[in-house]
Amino acid sequence: MSILNADLHCHSVVSDGTLTPEELAARAAANGVELWSLTDHDEIAGQQRAAQAARSHGMKYLTGTEISVTFADQTVHIVGLGFDAGDEEMMSGLLATRGGREQRAREMAAGLAAVGIQDAYEGALKYVGNPELISRTHFARFLVESGVCRDTGEVFRRFLVEGKPGYVSHRWASLGAAVQWITRAGGMAVIAHPARYRFTANEEFALFTEFKAHGGRGVEVVTGSHTAAEYVTYAEAAREYGLAASRGSDFHSPGESHTDLGQLPYLPGELTPVWEVLADRIQ
Ligand code: AMP
Ligand code: MN
Ligand code: MN
Ligand code: MN
Repeated sequence: MSILNADLHCHSVVSDGTLTPEELAARAAANGVELWSLTDHDEIAGQQRAAQAARSHGMKYLTGTEISVTFADQTVHIVGLGFDAGDEEMMSGLLATRGGREQRAREMAAGLAAVGIQDAYEGALKYVGNPELISRTHFARFLVESGVCRDTGEVFRRFLVEGKPGYVSHRWASLGAAVQWITRAGGMAVIAHPARYRFTANEEFALFTEFKAHGGRGVEVVTGSHTAAEYVTYAEAAREYGLAASRGSDFHSPGESHTDLGQLPYLPGELTPVWEVLADRIQ
């Protein structure tokens, strides 16, 4: 085992989490996290605050983000770790990736209005901390608050996934672009929660192979989005593809996330942890 309590995946109010970077840092530290990263969706505006808060709690820090990518007609998430947070190419790439969210949200609201749920755009906006980052999660919180569903999981199942009335298909960044933004900024690209995609075996092989060809070097193995059986499957994939392994809760909110910061099994010992490869990028 690789005995380091690293949590390299979570979200703040800068994207679709409900805690501030400072609140997350305090919670991570209280849970025994030793190395932390804040990985807001398509956005790095919280990085300075997170790094500073980590320092104040005596935690080590890696810069982070989680980039939305379209691959084989599905949305794939690529986590970036240890990049230079002032990198211009990366900042403009993320700005462009955020760009379509407002229009998409208006179309989602129109889809919901068609099934009798009025004013969902305005409702979702009440939960948004960063106006450039309105996400499905904010709609989900609104539909729970207004009593349409019991929890956010039910909202996704009934309204926000493909084929449901609030779903709008969207083209995000390309895999190659996302990996290059991260890599050229000195960081490591990591495939987030690989078990959560609905790829065929061939498509998954293409994802891992193309990801590596573009310069990607890591995969999440132990994540709050995986079952114990999936840890084993993707530990095997990490070895097979020669990728470093990452660990992160994907924590969003105390009320919603079933895995808290730092509360995960350690990485299996035979894998190379991403933090070994990124040793000189740790702050
Ligand atoms: P978006 O980037 O707007 O497409 O929203 C994606 C976000 O929705 C993810 O990062 C998760 O936080 C959340 N999400 C996706 N699927 C589910 C689900 N089945 N249940 C709860 N939250 C989900
Ligand atoms: Mn999210
Ligand atoms: Mn994700
Ligand atoms: Mn995430």
